[in-house]
Amino acid sequence: MDCIICEKRIVNENNQLQNKVRQFLKTNKQLDLKHQWIKEWKICYGCSEQYTSERLELDAVVIIEKMKLKRKENQKKKQKGPSQSFREDYIRKYIEYATDKSEEKGRYTLYQPPLKNRQQYDKAYIEYVERRESLAVMIVRDLVKTIDTRGYWVDVRHLEEHFLTDFDRDFSFIIVELFQRVLKPDYPKKMIEETDADYKNRIAYITWKTANADIHSQRTRGIKGDVYIILPRLKNEHEDMYDKHFIVWDSKRLVFRRVRIGKEYVNIIKPPKWSYEIVATEKINHQQLRYIEKNMQKIVRKTHKERNFTLSIFRPQQR
Ligand SMILES: [Zn+2]
Repeated sequence: MDCIICEKRIVNENNQLQNKVRQFLKTNKQLDLKHQWIKEWKICYGCSEQYTSERLELDAVVIIEKMKLKRKENQKKKQKGPSQSFREDYIRKYIEYATDKSEEKGRYTLYQPPLKNRQQYDKAYIEYVERRESLAVMIVRDLVKTIDTRGYWVDVRHLEEHFLTDFDRDFSFIIVELFQRVLKPDYPKKMIEETDADYKNRIAYITWKTANADIHSQRTRGIKGDVYIILPRLKNEHEDMYDKHFIVWDSKRLVFRRVRIGKEYVNIIKPPKWSYEIVATEKINHQQLRYIEKNMQKIVRKTHKERNFTLSIFRPQQR
């Protein structure tokens, strides 16, 4: 703190000054202006010796004006906060950090718990899950409204990912064949030590084994199921949506902080929510399926050229 009269910094004068005030109070019972100011730490020891109360009263207007100015200056310093470049630097880094975090927090509307304790599954089943055929089955079973899969097994005949996609579940097309459910899976009860996710996986595995056996037995008997082409489109339901992140300057700790609500904010991309839109589905016969399988490379190449292709690429070109 600076002396209000001489503007010198007051250091270690507190005890001396407070003694002066106590002495004065003992003899006078009431503080005069000078000692009032000393008590409030506004005058240095030197000035307290030089000045009389009368003199201070004469100068009071000037001094009070000085005090007001000083207070304003301090206020300004507080309000001014961090420099513009510091703020910009912080905001830039914050946006980078928060965007990364937000992208990590993305979730899928169709979800299968990861397989733990792999030794309890067939190699073929692990592949089925890892190649995301299980997900393709979920898409057809749960999202495609035009195909009624109740009472049917969904056999994935072909699953193609989009060319040069950033996402590992971005399918360009799915071809499935449906077989009537003849065999019934025998589901065990949940074990006490088993988590919900582990049980869900075990049930899915048993279903897959039953389906596989059933489909295999029907195929060997020459049974052919209905075949469908499905064009799913991976879609972020939160596309172009932003969250407001409120940032304040903490003038006590001299740091920026994120708060629940405030005046200043930055727009941070909302964590993505991935779902599928079914662009088209079509039932095809086995002759068409044979054509597609024979020309698969050509068809896939066409999907590389045009991301938003239509079902027409699966048909022979008419000239
Ligand atoms: Zn002074």
